[in-house]
Amino acid sequence: MSNTDFVLAVEDLTVSFDGFKAIDNLNLYLDRGELRVVIGPNGAGKTTLLDLICGKTRASAGSIKFKNQEMTSLPEHMIVRAGIGRKFQTPSIYENLSVFKNLEVSFPRGRGVFGALGFKCDDEVRNKVMEVAEMIGLSDRLELESGLLSHGQKQWLEIGMLLMQDPELLMLDEPIAGMSARERELTADLLLRICKNRSVIVIEHDMAFVSRIAHKVTVMHQGKILAEGSMEKVQADPKVIDVYLGH
Ligand code: ADP
Ligand code: MG
Repeated sequence: MSNTDFVLAVEDLTVSFDGFKAIDNLNLYLDRGELRVVIGPNGAGKTTLLDLICGKTRASAGSIKFKNQEMTSLPEHMIVRAGIGRKFQTPSIYENLSVFKNLEVSFPRGRGVFGALGFKCDDEVRNKVMEVAEMIGLSDRLELESGLLSHGQKQWLEIGMLLMQDPELLMLDEPIAGMSARERELTADLLLRICKNRSVIVIEHDMAFVSRIAHKVTVMHQGKILAEGSMEKVQADPKVIDVYLGH
């Protein structure tokens, strides 16, 4: 396909594990600034799709273009550098370090405007930490040891660590699992703020949460796309009710 305005274009993507197609000829197009939610029953291939986009799993066939650049042959760190950040289900923060330090160490090395000029570089990193801490609602917890944060705050910190790298596409796998009702609300607000400057893909099961954040919903089933569109449209789709929402 020729160049497009899509930030992400996934075409004819397939991955087989010992002959089993976990992703089966899938096409997905994401706009800049779009927040897409992917839903579907367990085993539908949602996590595998993110694994393929971030390079953790290699495609058997098909194409993944990010800003018109092919990603399928790139190593994981090059995909990160291209601007794709991915949050896994279990948080991987440094529990014994402060919130500030966790954010600081996530700033990409060698990318600062001031390069080797130490003190100015420090200022640049500090400003970024402050900006991200504000975004994730942890400005007043900067000196706290991260292990002492609530479960929800740890999840936000990990999102913050990804934001330190300014990804143009952020992918989150079940970010509100285990969160309180209040933390879920705050996470919805956070994701809506985040997608003002970048594209976001979220995998989630909680339908109240999905309807609050999704621009569009993609429903997966058996490695394929079953339905796609507005929340209202997919919720009313008999196929979706049959394989997913009806249970
Ligand atoms: P979901 O996230 O939608 O619940 P997954 O993407 O985790 O589903 O899994 C889709 C299917 O692919 C499942 O049947 C799972 O067992 C299988 N699968 C995922 N990763 C691997 C792997 N590395 N090797 C073999 N099978 C896998
Ligand atoms: Mg999964």
